[in-house]
Amino acid sequence: MALRRCLPQYSTTSSYLSKIWGFRMHGTKAAASVVEEHVSGAEREDEEYADVDWDNLGFSLVRTDFMFATKSCRDGNFEQGYLSRYGNIELNPAAGILNYGQGLIEGMKAYRGEDGRVLLFRPELNAMRMKIGAERMCMHSPSVHQFIEGVKQTVLANRRWVPPPGKGSLYLRPLLFGSGASLGVAAASEYTFLVFGSPVQNYFKEGTAALNLYVEEVIPRAYLGGTGGVKAISNYGPVLEVMRRAKSRGFSDVLYLDADTGKNIEEVSAANIFLVKGNTIVTPATSGTILGGITRKSIIEIALDLGYKVEERSVPVEELKEAEEVFCTGTAAGVASVGSITFKNTRSLLPLWIHVYICLEFYIYLLINNLQD
Ligand code: PLP
Repeated sequence: MALRRCLPQYSTTSSYLSKIWGFRMHGTKAAASVVEEHVSGAEREDEEYADVDWDNLGFSLVRTDFMFATKSCRDGNFEQGYLSRYGNIELNPAAGILNYGQGLIEGMKAYRGEDGRVLLFRPELNAMRMKIGAERMCMHSPSVHQFIEGVKQTVLANRRWVPPPGKGSLYLRPLLFGSGASLGVAAASEYTFLVFGSPVQNYFKEGTAALNLYVEEVIPRAYLGGTGGVKAISNYGPVLEVMRRAKSRGFSDVLYLDADTGKNIEEVSAANIFLVKGNTIVTPATSGTILGGITRKSIIEIALDLGYKVEERSVPVEELKEAEEVFCTGTAAGVASVGSITFKNTRSLLPLWIHVYICLEFYIYLLINNLQD
């Protein structure tokens, strides 16, 4: 049975799922937001879609129509933003982002439901994560409301690029960067918040097949006191070569070890990792070096709700061999099962307990559907 990677791909209704799986409805914990309510059913039926081959979407940049941007004033507050045609932006050569790496990214998705409404998955968590990251990087940040407004405006302006239900999603990339100029090492005086999107489907080239991870022993992704716990752009550049090497050897992605001991697993390049052992779900604790993924948080809430025990702790790389199932989670990656782990040139195959995986995935969909009702 093919595993599905992009969370809300199922066209099944929530009541059907509750019947099959006997799930309890979640209240407000993992809440999706409806982006717009004002388009009537009749208007939706006539809706125009962008000229995209929806059956062959991968995860590469597709140019959409509009982007949203706003700048911070001297007092740190952001102006009312505006939409403009998607395109290049102008930057002062002395901008904080170009000289001192003051930049944060976010990643989120807008989905089209069966009823035509467009939904976001827990956008307030992305907004809050950007605020925390901005504090760490000494940057001004938009309020949660401004963040969500910018994202919603971007989605609505690019509505025709939101794939039909079950065909993927509009991946949204909110950016925050130092746009003010400074010569000496200092925080920028002005910041730009910008949002653009691109329709996407599977993140991994494997499509929905299980991933083959390579455990990197030499180069860690993050270190204690660094910025691994926030979505700073500077976390990604230093591991691109490691990823390129692993991918050129046929691996799906890289699993990083902790910089301190080199013995414990941390996370994949853009996803968190989970082990299933009986009724227990284990995941590395986020203690500053691992990004607190929104999918990770949602899976933990769901697992607890389903009666699993959840352990957030140090996870020795050897423990992977004891797992009944290993899976990765992330907005781009969805919930992706892991089929093999290669450590010290030895490849260990992992069993795939499809039922647990599918259970969790269905449940997330149920949460989203719940809010559509
Ligand atoms: N870890 C890293 C380093 C990431 O870049 C991401 C993706 O944003 C994740 C984990 C998963 O986070 P989320 O579930 O919020 O997408």
